[in-house]
Amino acid sequence: MSKKKIYELLIGTNNKGKFREIKELLPKRIKIYSPNTYKIKAPIESGKTFLKNSLIKAKYYSKKTGKICIADDSGLEIDILKKAPGIYSARWGGKKNDFNLAIKKVFKKLDNVDKNWRIKKIRARFICALTIYGPKIKTKNSVGKIEGKISNCKKGLNGFGYDPIFIPNGKKITFGQMKPYQKYSIDHRAKAFKNIKKFL
Ligand code: IMP
Repeated sequence: MSKKKIYELLIGTNNKGKFREIKELLPKRIKIYSPNTYKIKAPIESGKTFLKNSLIKAKYYSKKTGKICIADDSGLEIDILKKAPGIYSARWGGKKNDFNLAIKKVFKKLDNVDKNWRIKKIRARFICALTIYGPKIKTKNSVGKIEGKISNCKKGLNGFGYDPIFIPNGKKITFGQMKPYQKYSIDHRAKAFKNIKKFL
């Protein structure tokens, strides 16, 4: 049997929703740390891709703490908005990371592009890039996607971020209406995690 190398991991995010979800995906034997314990501020996400930004975060938190870090960069792409908000998904929530504000902005932009968008299929996808970075280990990364459409109004109180407006293909309800384990088993983060979990 191969010996697992990673016994402890810092989850490099200050986003509570993401933290919860990544923690849920990790094997229970791994001791989890949070940037909150170290009072570390988030780094500047200067990359132009999800993958670059996930590396920036994982490297940053690992260097600050000396721990192996797993970080994700994720977001929502909406085709008729030229893939916005994309890597700027968190920023659409403003300084306070207000998801209601971000969703209002999505609806406003959709209204500007097409007044009838609510009766059309507005193609969108969530993307997640995960990176594991740390001292004495080879950097690993992986990307996961889930295709779907934008709901014509906010639905559901579960999850975080854009969950109340995203309906994955093949389902009739939004991520916000799903039980957490339903979402965690099919979403972009779970898909990215599938390819990276063998290293844990
Ligand atoms: P960042 O990766 O920290 O830059 O933030 C990604 C942003 O994308 C989050 O703040 C959410 O607004 C959005 N996002 C990423 N993953 C999800 C998800 O699973 N559900 C809902 N929103 C998400």
